[in-house]
Formats: sequence, C-alpha cells, structure tokens
Amino acid sequence: MALERTLCIIKPDAVEKRKQGAILQRLQEEGFQIIGLRQAQLARQIAEGFYAVHRERPFFAELCTFMTRSPVLLIALERENAVQHLRSVIGATDPAKAAEGTVRKQFGSSVAENAVHGSDSPENGRLETSYYFQGSELV
Ligand code: ADP
Ligand code: MG
Repeated sequence: MALERTLCIIKPDAVEKRKQGAILQRLQEEGFQIIGLRQAQLARQIAEGFYAVHRERPFFAELCTFMTRSPVLLIALERENAVQHLRSVIGATDPAKAAEGTVRKQFGSSVAENAVHGSDSPENGRLETSYYFQGSELV
C-alpha cells in the first residue's frame, strides 16, 4: 500500500469546544504522521475556494459562514492508505449516522457542524494539502 497524504481540518465547532488536543491525539494513535500543522482564521474567499466543488449546493453559503466563524486547525497527514483510513476514523458526514467511536460521532453536532474535514480521494489529499501548505512547510 502506498504512502499517501491527506488533509484534516479541525472545524470551528470543535475548536470552540476545545477538542483540538483530543482529535490530534486520536490522529497520532491512528498512526498518522503530522507533517504540517497550522491554526488559521479562514478568509471567506479561502473557504469558498476550498469548497468550490459544492458551490451549487444549497448549503454552500452556510458552510462558508461556518468555516470562517472561528479559527480552524489545518493538519497535513501522511500514512499508508491515509485517505481511506482518515475517512474511516472521522466517520459519516452526518454525526447522527456516523459509527460509534468515530470522531464525528464523538465530537460532531450536526451534518453541517461535524467537527472535522477529511479528503475524499488520494488526488484531493494532495490538492487539498497543497491548497493550505507550501511544500517547504511539510516535514
Ligand atoms: P464530507 O465532509 O463528509 O466529505 P461533503 O463533502 O458532502 O461531506 O460536504 C462538505 C461539508 O459540507 C460537510 O462536511 C458539512 O460540513 C457540510 N455539509 C454537507 N452536507 C450538508 C447539509 N446537508 N447541510 C449542511 N451542511 C452540509
Ligand atoms: Mg467532502
């Protein structure tokens, strides 16, 4: 299996609940290497660019307002099978439907405010990591 990169974001709801430490601990326990880490207050334009694939969805404006409400933690991760493994650790988009033991089940509040982001394909793992991190910031 190939070493992959994926992007995790600890979203504003989880930062407001002070769950950054618990989520970072879980990521480390799951065997991810943290190769980049930065706190940021996202500008609306940055959030809109990141979620551009969803711009026609009815929740797009709400999503961008949410993502810019409070700081987020941007986390570039590396691991064998990183993309699929992170998706399984975070769980379904809707915390109410997420499996027991997943991060969204544990810390998410609603389908909108679901605590964390995880890239959905190896290609997006690379693209999303480079959306927020320069190569020289990844170690
Ligand atoms: P995922 O984050 O699991 O990949 P999507 O890519 O479909 O899910 O959606 C991106 C983000 O948009 C979700 O994580 C969530 O914050 C928000 N979102 C998705 N569906 C809805 C919805 N029906 N209503 C409000 N917000 C939503
Ligand atoms: Mg997605």
